[in-house]
Amino acid sequence: MKHPVLNYGLIFCLCAVMAAVGCRGRQEATPPREFMAMGTLASIRTGADEMVSPETVEREVRAEFADLEGRLSIYRPDSEISRLNAAGTNPVAISPATRVILKQAIHYGEVSGGAFDVTIGPLVRLWGFSGGKVPRGLPDEKALEEARKRVGFQLIILDASRVAMREPGMFVDLGGIAKGYAVDCAWTRVQAEGGQNVLINLGGNMRVMGRPASDRLWRVGVRNPFDGDSVMGHLELVPGQAVATSGNYERFMMIEGHRYAHILDPRTSRPVEGMAGVTVLAPTATEADAWSTILFIVGIEAGQALLADHPGIEALWVPDREPHEIRVTPGLAKVFQPVPEWRGLLKINHP
Ligand code: ADP
Ligand code: MG
Repeated sequence: MKHPVLNYGLIFCLCAVMAAVGCRGRQEATPPREFMAMGTLASIRTGADEMVSPETVEREVRAEFADLEGRLSIYRPDSEISRLNAAGTNPVAISPATRVILKQAIHYGEVSGGAFDVTIGPLVRLWGFSGGKVPRGLPDEKALEEARKRVGFQLIILDASRVAMREPGMFVDLGGIAKGYAVDCAWTRVQAEGGQNVLINLGGNMRVMGRPASDRLWRVGVRNPFDGDSVMGHLELVPGQAVATSGNYERFMMIEGHRYAHILDPRTSRPVEGMAGVTVLAPTATEADAWSTILFIVGIEAGQALLADHPGIEALWVPDREPHEIRVTPGLAKVFQPVPEWRGLLKINHP
């Protein structure tokens, strides 16, 4: 009579253990809480073990994005950047947050050899982006040349609390770095609130904290630039890491039947052609955002060469041509899991 009791006991214990394991296995991060910020879609997720509530994380992130939008947006006439753009060559007082991002932007101008230029505004607007008038045809050479004279990050004069521009008619456009910077600021704010397992996303600029669950890493899809409904593969992010994508498929201009990307090459004064998308992994979202724009402009060979001096930055390029291929840095190859359709199209760059 003892044995059946023992057996039942054992079965019960086993069931209890299996239920506990099953339960832990099923622990998931919260679904994304989405909202609009800085002219794009933002979202946050919290991990299964997160102690700070999703409501609190969302509130803090929203507050940070709203604050920065008020300081940096070219669409807000009273922002610090709009006041700078309207001030001619007069100095304008700026807050520490604005100073930090301007300093960063100038830094990326230097490291990219001028490919990244935060004073690109006159050209961006001439091509009809960032509040410019939609052009009827291609801008003519004279207009391009005239706008180009007002582009040059070296013409920004930054001191402890003020900024000025050396030439009248200059226009700062932080579109290539502001969202990444905002994600980092929000990330720091959530961490100060005690957050430990969070994903923050602002228009594809993401940074994670911790993990979605104790047994795995945050995993993000890399969109197929030729088909918005599918992904080419997934990237796993180590705690703290950031990812960003620059593409020619979301914001572009049709001129004379041709599609032009919203990323311009200051060396030619023209939209970059030949690149469909670039995704970058970096220690911070500011770096990921700036580098995704830089590597979109300079392309694969020059980009891979630039990265030799920047360990920790890994990239994935998708050229805008057939046959399709994905080119990746050796470091990115280690954490990228392509879907079967793209697996054979993956090529690893020589470092
Ligand atoms: P997205 O805005 O889609 O996230 P990016 O991060 O690549 O894409 O930034 C593109 C934006 O950067 C453009 O809309 C424009 O505001 C700005 N931009 C365009 N060309 C340059 C450039 N050469 N250097 C710096 N910023 C640029
Ligand atoms: Mg960018």
